[in-house]
Amino acid sequence: MFYDKGLRFQCQMCRYCCSAEPGYVYLTKDDIDRAAKALSISFNEFIDKYCRLVSFGSYSLVSLQERPDYDCIFLTPSGCGIYEARPLQCRTYPFWKNVMESKESWENEAKSCPGIGKGRVVSAKEIEKRLKIGEEPPYIIIGK
Ligand code: SF4
Repeated sequence: MFYDKGLRFQCQMCRYCCSAEPGYVYLTKDDIDRAAKALSISFNEFIDKYCRLVSFGSYSLVSLQERPDYDCIFLTPSGCGIYEARPLQCRTYPFWKNVMESKESWENEAKSCPGIGKGRVVSAKEIEKRLKIGEEPPYIIIGK
């Protein structure tokens, strides 16, 4: 793999990935459980209050809401408002399957993430671990 010797990444806190453009943060069941627990509300309350359903025809996935300016619903002036309970998609970025497909896709991602290429070297083993974690399937709601 092109990342056999590891890759440099250190978040620069620019917040581009938490705002700037419309997008989806799809949640797993554990993501919803963890965030709901952190906010001391129920699983369904969390979905009703902070999520939107994204329809794929016969089923929907659950994504975090965005504000009109595309900021994540949990983005605060000092960063992520649920950092310790943030979703897997955020925890594993930028080591996502589509980004790690090739050197080109990694370099392309660097155009929107200034943390790529900076800081400590993340080992290939750690990258593989994050890729594996990212395979957890999203929470699916049938029939909505
Ligand atoms: S785009 Fe990259 S550097 Fe900026 S906040 Fe997101 S992970 Fe950090």
